[in-house]
Amino acid sequence: MVAVILSFLPSDKYKVINDLLIESNGRTIQIDHLVVSIYGIFVIETKNYKGWITGSDNSEYWTKNMFGNKYKFYNPIKQNKAHILALSKQSGIQLNNFIPIIAFSNGADLRVNTTHNVIYTTQLNRLIKEYIDIKFSENDIQNLCEKISSLNIVSPKARKQHILEVQNMAATKQHLIQQGICPRCGHNLVLRKGKYGDFTGCSNYPKCKFTQPIEHRHNYFLNKLTKRFIRSLLK
Ligand SMILES: [Zn+2]
Repeated sequence: MVAVILSFLPSDKYKVINDLLIESNGRTIQIDHLVVSIYGIFVIETKNYKGWITGSDNSEYWTKNMFGNKYKFYNPIKQNKAHILALSKQSGIQLNNFIPIIAFSNGADLRVNTTHNVIYTTQLNRLIKEYIDIKFSENDIQNLCEKISSLNIVSPKARKQHILEVQNMAATKQHLIQQGICPRCGHNLVLRKGKYGDFTGCSNYPKCKFTQPIEHRHNYFLNKLTKRFIRSLLK
């Protein structure tokens, strides 16, 4: 969606690079969209969230609130700043040439207290065009694009590795749950009895509505046997 919006920028002035994956300090980081222009390099972090979004420049986490269902996520301003630092370091392009932008989908209701560029995706091109101080010559643009693109990890194997790293974070979440800690808010998890059986829930309820069904071992094997039985019938 954002790639389509950015494609409407005049292509002679703005070069768009989507889905950049670079390595930095042994870790891979993903930059959603980059726009290279004589006015600077725009680094765009997109968030496809619905509901009220609250947070401030310096808070560690921001909150997404949908019908009282709260979910914390890492401050995207800090996230983007870390991406820009890594990109500057790896490319050798000076830090003050980068312009960070956080763009939320229009399903979000932004209630953030910030002095940074935190906008809706539909405002992207208008905001980018507001920057008119010249930082590079037109001849530099091709060079900058090549420098940045040369950092992009394109091998399917390395891209797969990045996905594995993200999955590792999911594993960390599972680990927290196993330790009895809510991965959403950090409170303790407790066992609850529900209409459809026992489940794990957050002790911070109703503020945090995190729940996780308990998988019963015998059910798991029973399901496996049932599936195998059905499959044998279909043969
Ligand atoms: Zn919780």
